Amino acid sequence: MGYNVAIDGPAGAGKSTIAKLVAKEKGYIYVDTGAMYRGLAIHFLDQGIKAEETDKIIEACKEAQVTIKYEGGMQQVYLNGNNITSRLRDEEVGNMASKSSPIPQVREKLLELQQSLAREQDVIMDGRDIGTCILPDADVKVYLTASVETRAKRRFDELMEKGITCDLEEIAKDIAERDERDMTRKTAPLKQAEDATLIDSSHMTIEEVVAAITALCR
Ligand code: C5P
Repeated sequence: MGYNVAIDGPAGAGKSTIAKLVAKEKGYIYVDTGAMYRGLAIHFLDQGIKAEETDKIIEACKEAQVTIKYEGGMQQVYLNGNNITSRLRDEEVGNMASKSSPIPQVREKLLELQQSLAREQDVIMDGRDIGTCILPDADVKVYLTASVETRAKRRFDELMEKGITCDLEEIAKDIAERDERDMTRKTAPLKQAEDATLIDSSHMTIEEVVAAITALCR
């Protein structure tokens, strides 16, 4: 069994930025489980399936093979043999991932992949249900959050930096809707595990959050 660090929290809390830095400092493999849900979402979108078409999603799951490889220390996501990493952050992909992830068959599909990665190596894994469902015995559990305003502003700055014009209020609305969906779904809702350490990063720098988490790790 590897040494396992679980980081859960809402969209835009900075989980991936922080987890990558902790991974580098501690020598863990960073596993981004959201990217796996996004990988499946690309499969559904490419088949022309709509988020409401649950039966089609369940059927399409059967022929979808998501695999993870590490190239130069970076996680690469493959869907049925094709590297789809560059498409993962598209807005429509994020929305499809959020809408299809409550379906039990979608979660089931990714459970074994996530657990096997954690069995075989030292990982820091981020997602929504890692501390509660996927790795209930993780050595360290963190629930990383920030206010909706802070998260929306961070996303806004990130998009502007890439030269993408966007609307701060729209982003905040989208984040609030995604929180609502992730927290109220029946299967594996986003919530803080009882034994997780709560970190609210609204008024913390990246370095401060990384230091707080590495201090919890061996
Ligand atoms: O974290 P990220 O925004 O990439 O995740 C995309 C979507 O995948 C989330 O909105 C959530 O609905 C879903 N997800 C999940 N469980 C995880 C990781 C992501 O349900 N462990």
